[in-house]
Amino acid sequence: MLLPDLRKQVLECNLELVRRGLVLYTFGNASGISRKEGLIAIKPSGVPYEKLRPEDLVVTDLEGKIVEGNLRPSSDLPTHLVLYKAFPKIGAVVHTHSEYATAWAQARKPIPCFGTTHADYFHGPIPVTDVMTREEIASAYEKNTGDVIVRAFQGIDYSAIPAVLVANHASFAWGPDTETAAHNAVVLEAVARMAYFTVAINERAEAIGRDLHDRHHLRKHGSSAYYGQAKGAK
Ligand SMILES: [Zn+2]
Repeated sequence: MLLPDLRKQVLECNLELVRRGLVLYTFGNASGISRKEGLIAIKPSGVPYEKLRPEDLVVTDLEGKIVEGNLRPSSDLPTHLVLYKAFPKIGAVVHTHSEYATAWAQARKPIPCFGTTHADYFHGPIPVTDVMTREEIASAYEKNTGDVIVRAFQGIDYSAIPAVLVANHASFAWGPDTETAAHNAVVLEAVARMAYFTVAINERAEAIGRDLHDRHHLRKHGSSAYYGQAKGAK
């Protein structure tokens, strides 16, 4: 079996989305990539999560050709492929219809960064894509979903803001590995929920100030990050 470790990580990533309440039935999918091999492992389409085994995952190349697996890959595979090609530093992609993030996507509103929870993970508002055109929907819809996401990141660093809202659809999140991508999707849902309540309490609530935003983001992610334990520390 190809990529046994990646298969296990992708399976675990998919199950984490269920455990955290981000996924209803079979909505949602996660994949991971081996950059060395140029191969992707992705959830099969429509298989209940409780029945998923590592060998059920589908391994494809970057063009979506199945290299190993008897099941059909998730129908969103072409979106994942576009993201892997456009964002060379990512190692995993997660798509869910989690409730609060999806509500912002449906409202077609970027999620403003109202506080430090958001700033810790996302260095700015979560962008929302353009509405897809009739042609984009009628032709290669899933690939075009990827293209519309990449367009939304012109001028935005995909490593500093590892998530997006696809207009009238839902969110995609990513990260350097499967664990981080799942984590980012879970935190995205939490900040989407908090932002919703923030606006409900005060519809004129303002985004966090730049100083506090930078302080929180950079203590965790900058070149002089100091949050958590130093690498190698016990
Ligand atoms: Zn979807």
